[in-house]
Amino acid sequence: MNDRSLLADRDPLVFAGSPLDRGELLRRDESRVAGLLGGNEGWWLGLVEGDPVLQGQGGLFWFRRDEIAALADMECGLFLGHYRGSPCFAAAITAPDSLPLGTQVTPARQAAMALSHDEAAIYAQAKALLAWHARHGFCAACGSATLIRSGGGRRQCPACETEHFPRVDPVVIMLATDGDRCLLGRQEAWPEGMWSALAGFVEPAETLEEACARELEEEAGVKADIAQIRYVMGQPWPFPSSLMIGLVAPVSDATVTVDPHELEQARWFSRDEVRAMLAGTHPDAAMPPSIAIARRLSELWVDGAI
Ligand SMILES: [Zn+2]
Repeated sequence: MNDRSLLADRDPLVFAGSPLDRGELLRRDESRVAGLLGGNEGWWLGLVEGDPVLQGQGGLFWFRRDEIAALADMECGLFLGHYRGSPCFAAAITAPDSLPLGTQVTPARQAAMALSHDEAAIYAQAKALLAWHARHGFCAACGSATLIRSGGGRRQCPACETEHFPRVDPVVIMLATDGDRCLLGRQEAWPEGMWSALAGFVEPAETLEEACARELEEEAGVKADIAQIRYVMGQPWPFPSSLMIGLVAPVSDATVTVDPHELEQARWFSRDEVRAMLAGTHPDAAMPPSIAIARRLSELWVDGAI
């Protein structure tokens, strides 16, 4: 029951597999980065409150610099990296009413399901970085206004010289298993009948396995043996800056006691039930859509790959 080729054969998860060369070396040369950001070479993405601007046909709408300059906050323009030899940038659109005819601002999750893998990954980077910069204009150490450096790879405080780097928040998401059953939970706010893998933020001074075991016990009362917990795959999740860390966690005590503050319900599902949920044929239970790592973990478990 551990066929790794099943893992390798599948498409990368949405937002993963970025094709960009992020240009770490280039970013160390501030004048070169400034030249790129101010020049007419390459392509720009414009985001409207985090949502992408799509073309009529569905792909990302890539602006030339002179096209986006009048619509966006170019002071906070970011260099994302090179794609097929061209530099790519992102900026927050401040005049959405003036977007080119035929373009469409599309909600992030909806866009993610429609974009190519390459474009979804580039968009994820733009979305997470723009959100971080929008919230980190002031130094957390001394309160002074900070400046963008390295094309957006960091910010620096001119008063106390502290450097601030874009943050990624690790989230463990785990399929707890008990032989031929897996544990799924649901929150009250979710669509009726939707079930998913349990998840939670990693806390300071905690390993991934420890976070996984703690969350399972806190949310559902089940106990997992830390030595048995295994990493499966990760997924960038730019809402706003998470990294989903997919794990599989065989449990040693399968007794479920739900914490009602965290979950509405949690219960064990048989492999046949999960197979039906994935196929959309279960009478009253469903899995999240294909962009979600929880769905991929369930697919792999049903197929015996994890
Ligand atoms: Zn400072």
